[in-house]
Amino acid sequence: MNAKRPLIAVLTGAGISTDSGIPDYRGPNGLWQKDPSAQELVTIGPYKADPDVRRRSWRMRLETGASAAEPNAGHRALVDLERSGLPLRVLTQNVDGLHRAAGLTPRKVLELHGTARETQCLRCRVVGSMAEALERVVAGEPDPACRECGGILKPRTVMFGEALDPAVLQQADAIAKACDLFIAVGTSLQVYPVASLPQIALEAGARLIVVNGEPTPFDAAAAEVIREPISRALPELVRRLVTERG
Ligand code: ZN
Repeated sequence: MNAKRPLIAVLTGAGISTDSGIPDYRGPNGLWQKDPSAQELVTIGPYKADPDVRRRSWRMRLETGASAAEPNAGHRALVDLERSGLPLRVLTQNVDGLHRAAGLTPRKVLELHGTARETQCLRCRVVGSMAEALERVVAGEPDPACRECGGILKPRTVMFGEALDPAVLQQADAIAKACDLFIAVGTSLQVYPVASLPQIALEAGARLIVVNGEPTPFDAAAAEVIREPISRALPELVRRLVTERG
């Protein structure tokens, strides 16, 4: 039997960013429970078809101010883990860009659902800055078009009705297979295909640690389940890992 490479894979979901003031849209108190019409603002069909949906979507982005959010102790703990020298990959369902903002090396972060810090043109695929697009909205363009080709701009996120990038998903699968420890943080592990990642890791012989406020379908298979608030639990867990493995 081959010894596994000592790689730590950390999958993060909305729960790691709630202490940065970013709401969990899907959660029981999420925006989409309170205001189901908000969901069409992030659904590709209506977004493409209806300029009014796009105008409301840009306005929502301005008003929620998520781009001003700062990383918290949970994000910073993963930067500490990287700096300890232990091999690490972070797979995130979040589009808030806070892992990179905290200082994680970009190539070590796989943004499974894209990033809301950038825009992309639906026609020519050119990538731009979200901050710049929002400045154009403030300056009086309610639905800013692509400056290269006039096409529709959208956040570079995977919207409802869009598939995850197969190349990104393939990389995520490879990381799940290669790791010897898989830590799932702040994710309900109920949305596929991302929820298949801990399964892949377990089947490849990795140990699983779940850090989440609510039960997940993988708790029974986990070596350890941690329920405390993430911004407290994760720094503790990282200190322990660095001591054990460093
Ligand atoms: Zn374009």
